[in-house]
Amino acid sequence: MSSCSTCPSQEKCSSKLTLGPQGCGKLQPKYGVIKNVIGVISGKGGVGKSTVTGILASTLRKKGYKVGVLDADITGPSMPRFFGINDKRANIEPLDENNFKYYPVLSKGGVKVLSMNLLIPKEDDPVVWRGPIVTSVLTQLFTDTVWEELDYLLIDMPPGTSDITLTVMQSFPITELIIVSTPQDMVSMIVKKVIAMANKMPVPIRGVVENMSYINCPGCDTKIKVFSKKSAEEHAEYLGVPLIGELPINTDLTEALEEGNAEEYVVNNDLYSLIFEGLY
Ligand code: ADP
Repeated sequence: MSSCSTCPSQEKCSSKLTLGPQGCGKLQPKYGVIKNVIGVISGKGGVGKSTVTGILASTLRKKGYKVGVLDADITGPSMPRFFGINDKRANIEPLDENNFKYYPVLSKGGVKVLSMNLLIPKEDDPVVWRGPIVTSVLTQLFTDTVWEELDYLLIDMPPGTSDITLTVMQSFPITELIIVSTPQDMVSMIVKKVIAMANKMPVPIRGVVENMSYINCPGCDTKIKVFSKKSAEEHAEYLGVPLIGELPINTDLTEALEEGNAEEYVVNNDLYSLIFEGLY
């Protein structure tokens, strides 16, 4: 009996799609077992989606989990910089003309990272591909990478509600999504579209991280709300998803990101582990 014979969506299954722990008709990695796939998504660029992906990955690794990161933001990849591995290249093993095995690069803290920027010759080379090619490459990076055994694979999702986002939501075995937003009406409006898209699939949403919620006044204990007077709770209520936590604008973090030390900075700063406390 085929593994898909009891699946209600079996007509949609193709040879690449198999019955896996996260359900029928989802892609499965060829070289490993991944227990949980978490998509980090925002809809709008520049709100801190990649930063939050890096923070969550570093925090989970600090807790002792086996963690991988797939940078699905193929045209704007930034995960190698977060982990300070942008000068390294991922190994590619050709199996035949059309099939390859990809090996992720290990960060200092032990997170397995794969990104388009670790595969192209120079990190500032542009990737000029049409949507269907990006989608096909992304699928391969998920299925054909030697992830081995992972407790969590975090996917830094592409921005927007394009066909690439749709493919990831439909075909990848996403356990849950983490939404990243900033307290700005324009951002919330776009984030709401992504939430509506996820609800339609449906892909479960764990909650929202409100990034750049405030800055800490350097001379006192006051939190200064830069963008909106609304609380993070009100913001989450407007989005219709639970609030995971809020993160301040932190120039020390920006500096650490620029110096390639963000992983170390996050691991040594309790604020970042506390935000996901109790979640994993
Ligand atoms: P996205 O993935 O949504 O496009 P990024 O995570 O790349 O956004 O963040 C955009 C920029 O904002 C980066 O330069 C990053 O360093 C900075 N940034 C993000 N979150 C914070 C924060 N909480 N404090 C300071 N800088 C931040």
